[in-house]
Parts: sequence; structure tokens; C-alpha cells
Amino acid sequence: MSDSSEQKKLLLHVCCAVCASYPVLQLQEMGYEVILYFYNPNIYPIEEYQRRLNELKKLAERYNIRLIIEETGYDYWLNLVKGLENEPEKGNRCRVCFKERLSKAAVKATEENCEYFTTTLTVSPHKNSKQIFEAAKEVCNNIQNPPEFLEIDFKKKDGYKKTSNFADKYGFYRQKHCGCEFSIRK
Ligand code: SF4
Repeated sequence: MSDSSEQKKLLLHVCCAVCASYPVLQLQEMGYEVILYFYNPNIYPIEEYQRRLNELKKLAERYNIRLIIEETGYDYWLNLVKGLENEPEKGNRCRVCFKERLSKAAVKATEENCEYFTTTLTVSPHKNSKQIFEAAKEVCNNIQNPPEFLEIDFKKKDGYKKTSNFADKYGFYRQKHCGCEFSIRK
């Protein structure tokens, strides 16, 4: 790893502890000083939200890295996706959902003097990384002097497998649905 004086600061938007478990180490290996950022108002119900957040707090403690938590509430998020409730996963509701989370991450990265930001959302084999990268591009086009978004598909090069192994090793809770109420499979 590089000397800390040379490290570049990166804000990592994190959806849950499982998905962060390997990407954090990977980014540190690449020489980044990582700050965790939890902003996921899409998660339903509140018990599930708390559970994922608590797991992430455990990860932050274990890896000894800073965690920033941002909250706007589920009702705020519901309002953003109004009219898109029946969209399938990977459809327009997800595009709005990604954009919301990444736009707050970009703003926070700037506030924290991070030159870079990225997200653990690409770990999931159920998500289309191209759709996430496009959402990030739109976000960056809409703000002045945005931080650079790193287009890393964390599931690639065995990333998903390695992430699963780390999550199992540390016993992190694995959720059964993506986040919102519309993603709960009957
Ligand atoms: S399925 Fe997942 S990504 Fe799509 S809108 Fe729901 S929580 Fe967001």
C-alpha cells in the first residue's frame, strides 16, 4: 500500500456490509484512503434498514475506517419513485434510485475533499453495472467540479466470489431483497 501522504481520498457509497467487505480492501490495495458513506433511503422496512446499517457499523469498526451516515427517510425516497412502482428491477425506478444515492454521494465527496467516489452497488450480480455507471455520469454532468467517479465493476475478476467469502468469514447478515418494498419477491 502507498504511503498515507500519497493516498488519494475516495468516498465509497456502500449499500450494505456484505457488498463492502471485499471492495474496501481492494480499494485500499489500490492505494486509496477510503471513507464509507451510507445513504440508502430506499431500504424497507425500517427494521431491515437498521439491520443493514448496524452490520456496516461493525464492518467500519473491524476495518477501522470512518463511516458517514446520511438519512432522508423512506417517504422522501417513495416520492422520488412515484409512478415507477411497477417497474421491473433494472428498469426506470432503479435508474432514479441509483441517481439519488450517487448524487448525494458526489456532493458528500466534494464536502469531504475526496477527489474520487464510487459505489459497492456493482458487486451484485442482480444489478446492471452499465446502468449504475450511466447514472453516475448523469450525476456528474449535473454538478460543478464533480469528483471523479471510478467505474469499477466489483463483481468482475471473481469479485463477487471474494466478497461472499469475506462476508461469510465475518458473518455479515445477507439480505434477501434489493432494498425497496417493490423488490420483495412474493
Ligand atoms: S429494486 Fe433496488 S435499485 Fe431498484 S429501486 Fe428498488 S431498491 Fe432501488
